[in-house]
Amino acid sequence: MSFPKQNDFIDIHTHGAVPSPGIFSVETLMAHDNRKPMETAGLAYTSGIHPWNLNDENHDRLLLHVEETASYESVIAIGEIGFDKIKGPAIDLQQRTFEEQVYIAGKLRKPVVIHCVKAWEELISAHKKLNPATPWLVHGFRGKKELALQLISKGIYLSFWFDFITRREATPLMKSLPVDYIFLETDGSGADIRDIYKKVSGDLGLTLAELKSQIFTNFNRFFKSIPS
Ligand SMILES: [Zn+2]
Repeated sequence: MSFPKQNDFIDIHTHGAVPSPGIFSVETLMAHDNRKPMETAGLAYTSGIHPWNLNDENHDRLLLHVEETASYESVIAIGEIGFDKIKGPAIDLQQRTFEEQVYIAGKLRKPVVIHCVKAWEELISAHKKLNPATPWLVHGFRGKKELALQLISKGIYLSFWFDFITRREATPLMKSLPVDYIFLETDGSGADIRDIYKKVSGDLGLTLAELKSQIFTNFNRFFKSIPS
């Protein structure tokens, strides 16, 4: 399978990635799109049911799609899956579907990429209840320092909303977090991952090469440290 190099910019969560030299992208397969992974250099995948696209009627079909795609070698994580209190079906359906997919992740020894909007209690209690066998990453994070540190204290990694982390107001948050729990992403926004790295390397007082190396190390720990 395709894996990043130490000098790559890693875009840990995106949609519609086009392979580009020097950039390693983790492309999101959303079950309702019914796409299959392809073996492409510079690209890996996650597969999951996004809560926005879930309902009682399509649940079984989407879950079957995740089960089928999750075992591909190029699918390196389950996701994005999770909870959304603004948009999506009843929270109990979201919770059940999340648990089912965390179970698939555990069975296949693959980590989990999470979408979470205004449902932090549900996320944290799911983490406690499931005691997951593989690590979790919350993508699109734009919350406060206390919440970030609470998630990290449970071993949960964070990737930040591109439009938040590139603002000056995000600098104090970035500086206050352990750098070994962070990832960066474009989320299919059209933003350039290289610009996001540049901003964050300035926040952290690291050179671009140092930040690349740090996130590469995080990537290896997140995806490879899972005992089999
Ligand atoms: Zn996304």
